[in-house]
Amino acid sequence: MSATHPRELGLTADCENCFGLCCVALPFSASADFAVDKEAGQPCHNLRDDFRCSIHDRLRDRGFPGCTVFDCFGAGQKVSQVTFEGRSWREAPETAARMYAVFPVMRQLHELQWYLAEALTLEAAEPVHASLRQAFDETERLTREPAGALERLDVAAHRAGVNELLLRTSELARAGLKGVERRGADLIGARLRGARLRGANLRGAYLIGADLRGADLRRADLIGADLRGADLSGADLTGAVFLTQAQLNAARGDAATRLPATLARPGHWAEEASAPAPSNRPRPARRPSRGRRR
Ligand code: SF4
Repeated sequence: MSATHPRELGLTADCENCFGLCCVALPFSASADFAVDKEAGQPCHNLRDDFRCSIHDRLRDRGFPGCTVFDCFGAGQKVSQVTFEGRSWREAPETAARMYAVFPVMRQLHELQWYLAEALTLEAAEPVHASLRQAFDETERLTREPAGALERLDVAAHRAGVNELLLRTSELARAGLKGVERRGADLIGARLRGARLRGANLRGAYLIGADLRGADLRRADLIGADLRGADLSGADLTGAVFLTQAQLNAARGDAATRLPATLARPGHWAEEASAPAPSNRPRPARRPSRGRRR
């Protein structure tokens, strides 16, 4: 592959070509993120016959903000259209269990490809570009394996190898900035307003509900950082490494938040900015989200 942004590589969700897999295969529990309990393999009661969500434009109002945060990295359409060749779990119920088992494996592979593709756009990572390209191609090859092979795949082992490369990429991208080391740190609810976090290592940090207003997060490594409810209003995330759209969607921010060029400002930020601030925001539970990377 050439150095191309992930969005051009089929690594973003294409719900039109997916059999609603995230709405069927994955479980969720009644919480601030989901209004109801749902077991894995049970279709959400809001999923229509055409695999579209009946409350798509009202998810947050109806108690399903978690659905606006989840990102399959394009795994849904790959499983639906490539692995299972366009036959849905409704058309072929005998394949449903296998399809649901393959989906989370594919999601992990696509997530790795997303990070690898981003790493290949970083000039500072040039010394490892050949290895990154090789890892991307190998991961792509794995995504095209048949369902049975994907079910048996030791995805953790593959991920560990890729993670070494991503760590090296992060070091190269942040070289010379002397950023603070807060990998995996518990920063839940931390008061980090205006903090100088340029080039910081925040891999897998718990930043749930943190006050990051006006913080300098330029070129910070945010892979797997839990930003649920974190306030990024006025923060500068220019050049942040391995930040995903899902992380932004889970956070709060405003028109003054500076974002990496490849990510979009979540629509709900504008709505929240015009709404009155909650008077007593509860401390969110520490809960690793799916696919967290440290
Ligand atoms: S509420 Fe909509 S998006 Fe969320 S799981 Fe149900 S059908 Fe899917």
